[in-house]
Amino acid sequence: MKTKHTLPWEDTPAKSERIVSAITRIASVLRSGAWQFATTEGLNPTQVDILEALRSRRAGVRLSWIAQHLGVTAASASDSITSLTAKGLIEKGRDSEDGRAVALRLTRSGQDLAARISNSVSFAHEAASDLPQSTQDALFESLLVLIGKLQQSDRFPEIRACVTCKHFAVNRHPDSETPHHCMLVDAPLSVSSLRLDCPEHDQAQTTVAVQNWRELEGV
Ligand code: SF4
Repeated sequence: MKTKHTLPWEDTPAKSERIVSAITRIASVLRSGAWQFATTEGLNPTQVDILEALRSRRAGVRLSWIAQHLGVTAASASDSITSLTAKGLIEKGRDSEDGRAVALRLTRSGQDLAARISNSVSFAHEAASDLPQSTQDALFESLLVLIGKLQQSDRFPEIRACVTCKHFAVNRHPDSETPHHCMLVDAPLSVSSLRLDCPEHDQAQTTVAVQNWRELEGV
């Protein structure tokens, strides 16, 4: 009896479905790499995310900022922060912009641990940096545009990216390899040098951010 072969291309999911599937698989591998390391340190996923978010914000941030950045409730962020403070990984100080508010920062131990969490996914950094430069540029731009799409449909938490920053001037230098501009440091920016998480980010008005995303998409 003849074996009936399936025709794989007939069952192939739509490209959009395969894109999401690829991103999901990569995300879960990265997550499990970071969490494996973190669980040996007695941390849960939200605590890991908080340490990573605070790593580049040495001036400190407020609890409400952390909750919004991670897309979790203030109560959940507060529980995790209480635990991280008890472990000596986070300390509370005065907010530099409002002396009555509390700013959360990593302690020296917290900085060391956050650096080691990041190193636990260095295998992925190496894989990405092995890609040809043109592939890295195209991949970064595509992911950025996809994040923009998700943000515009309110399915992605706010990010401190150039595109949503009031200092960002989209297409200030058209027909150039560095078409955009950061007005804060007065420097032209290529697409591949746009930041996803900048400590100097200052939120632009929603209409401006939406227009920036659309220009980046080429709409
Ligand atoms: S301040 Fe930071 S986020 Fe804003 S445009 Fe400049 S580099 Fe980008």
